Amino acid sequence: MSRTAPASPLAPEWLGVPEDLDALDPRIWPPAFRRDDHGVLTVGGIPVPELAERYGTPSYIYSEDTFRARAREFRTAFTEAFARIGAEVSVYYAGKSFLTTEVVRWVREEGLNVDTASGGELAVALRGGMEPERIALHGNNKSAAEITRALDHGLGRIVVDSLAEIELVAHLARTLGVVAPVMVRVTPGVHASTHEFIATAHEDQKFGLSLAVPQDGGDSPAMQAVAACTVDPDLELRGIHCHIGSQIFDADGFGVAAERVLAFMAGAGARLGTALPELDLGGGYGIAYTEADTPRPAREIAEALAERVASAAGRLGIAVPHLSIEPGRAISGPAACTLYTVGTLKTVEVEPGLRRRYVSVDGGMSDNARPVLYGADYTAVLADRRAGGGPVLSRVVGKHCESGDIVVRDVYLPEDLAPGDVLAVPATGAYCWALSSNYNWIPRPPVVAVRAAGARPAARLIVRGETEEDLFARDLGA
Ligand SMILES: *Cc1c(COP(=O)(O)O)cnc(C)c1O
Repeated sequence: MSRTAPASPLAPEWLGVPEDLDALDPRIWPPAFRRDDHGVLTVGGIPVPELAERYGTPSYIYSEDTFRARAREFRTAFTEAFARIGAEVSVYYAGKSFLTTEVVRWVREEGLNVDTASGGELAVALRGGMEPERIALHGNNKSAAEITRALDHGLGRIVVDSLAEIELVAHLARTLGVVAPVMVRVTPGVHASTHEFIATAHEDQKFGLSLAVPQDGGDSPAMQAVAACTVDPDLELRGIHCHIGSQIFDADGFGVAAERVLAFMAGAGARLGTALPELDLGGGYGIAYTEADTPRPAREIAEALAERVASAAGRLGIAVPHLSIEPGRAISGPAACTLYTVGTLKTVEVEPGLRRRYVSVDGGMSDNARPVLYGADYTAVLADRRAGGGPVLSRVVGKHCESGDIVVRDVYLPEDLAPGDVLAVPATGAYCWALSSNYNWIPRPPVVAVRAAGARPAARLIVRGETEEDLFARDLGA
């Protein structure tokens, strides 16, 4: 029996010293990512060294099966939980987390709709073959061109964000001779993240219309918006939308937001003499990036939420509305890992007797901006072989000219890690490729999809990596 080594005082408290450096934590690694009999990491049955050889590093490796399974899990969990309270559910995949034309096909085939946040994302959704009525358009500052594009194609909904935008959408719809289906985005005063939520009366943020009644009386901005949409024959008001945060682990924050928005919907319905048919609670469902993260399963969240929605609607004396949700990260995040090749290694004596090993890899903040942007934590494993030696507290860093260019702040990696080894960083499927850049003139990595369903697993490029030529193509001085 091996004994666990003592934790380094330099490591954060949540980080345990792994007993087995080859182990893949099932909370972080979905079943499509496993080690084979030789200790080599495989994705959908394909060994990582094969993928690294074929596609190079860095590269984003998606398990298509995992992406689809996560999409189905959310759709089934919410559909079943809300069916029990007599309500229907639509699931909109939040495209901003990761969107390509191929991904649009997966989403569509799994019976989800798609949420877009710009004309560009809308173009991808359309080109990927999504039916326009299954596409939503968001944004706090949509251009007239974006709104026109949405109306021209007959999008299922435009989520309006301000009184000025309501006028603009109505004007453009009238010009085109169409009726615009809209949802009003409100700010319910609930901000949720991970284990807690904050509930306030007012909101100090750029998105949405406040539910709060102004000091000097009169209608809340949200109520003014609903009234404006209702009187305008160029608009068809579908319902109310809110989005309360990201990386949320349980149902409490969603529940409070739902209660507030339902109360508003009851008031608006009574005032207008017509019920608002739909409640959209947005996205924000969390995933495990490290062992410290403990998101609740979709089914549990859906059931808790259905219960609160049913009892709130009962208290308010309104019918339970059609429910929509917009998960992004929870579907795309766990579906991918990023492969890197190890380069320079350096050990620093931070304090007498306390060492940290810096492991430089061939990517960094250009392919994963989240650690720099949000202080996000990740983990990593040695992927191309079994570990040798004990656990060494390591920091995986990129190759960019910034000392903040960190990929994994704290992780125990094997003592015998060496240049040329391949590292895999899990849970990089959301907001990594989507936020990637060419900082330092580094071409963006390829995106590979692996599918194991069927007799033989197959990997294919769904976005090719950029070349230096791609970058020069836009430099007009060259
Ligand atoms: C970002 C966003 C989402 C998706 O958030 P996730 O945390 O990826 O689930 C959904 N809806 C809206 C309006 C958003 O802005």
